[in-house]
Amino acid sequence: MVDSVRLDELSWPEFAARIAAGAPVLLPLGSTEQHGPHLPLNVDVVLPTGVCERIARKIGGIVAPTVPYGCKSMPRSGGGEQFPGTLSVDAHTFALVLRDVIRNLARQGVRRLVVVNGHYENLWPSVEGLDLARREIARDGITDFTVMRLEYWDFAQRATLESIFPAGFPGIELEHASLMETSLMMVLRPDLVEMDKVPSDGPATFPPYDRFPVPDDFGLPPSGVLAVATGSTVEKGEALMADYVTHIAAAVRKEFGL
Ligand code: ZN
Ligand code: MN
Repeated sequence: MVDSVRLDELSWPEFAARIAAGAPVLLPLGSTEQHGPHLPLNVDVVLPTGVCERIARKIGGIVAPTVPYGCKSMPRSGGGEQFPGTLSVDAHTFALVLRDVIRNLARQGVRRLVVVNGHYENLWPSVEGLDLARREIARDGITDFTVMRLEYWDFAQRATLESIFPAGFPGIELEHASLMETSLMMVLRPDLVEMDKVPSDGPATFPPYDRFPVPDDFGLPPSGVLAVATGSTVEKGEALMADYVTHIAAAVRKEFGL
């Protein structure tokens, strides 16, 4: 038997057998988006995928291929669409991709699904895709399909955030390409982190509204790093990862009675 929790690394009979045995499926949602000069464009793919793989190993789950294109980057949470390498899809497209993938998982016997979002702007379109899928699944006569949907970062514990941010947590939107994402990348893909390129033009000073076109004085740091990445460490990344894995796994066990 192949020792993998990744759906795309299993044979079809192995996938079918694990699903028949009741394995939950985790579906990570990512993006291809700028994360400053010190991090790669795939941060929002690597992080939810890594979180899901660790959870899957704890609970006997399977990780479906991560959706690599996210909903359009917004200036106040991801820097915006103008950065080279940021490749986004319309919210409508994103919701339909999610609908199709979830519908197919359900038709193939999956009854326990966890959608794990890793890109801020995917939040509401993922709710939409899930709702569209559930309608079709119900029309197909499947009545025992259960799905959870979450943002992995919501599972960081207060004590962990207080120890990582002694001066106060800046808020998750501003954490784009900043201390949390950089520390987590140091855990999962240290080969892709260039700490000597961490910029010092943040934090952002946005007003509490969007404006298009974005004016020059909107408060967006030119580097695309919205808060501060200085001080990122493997230890901080490990502390966050431990929170995510422990508490998401506990929630999944609770909801699915595992
Ligand atoms: Zn990100
Ligand atoms: Mn993002």
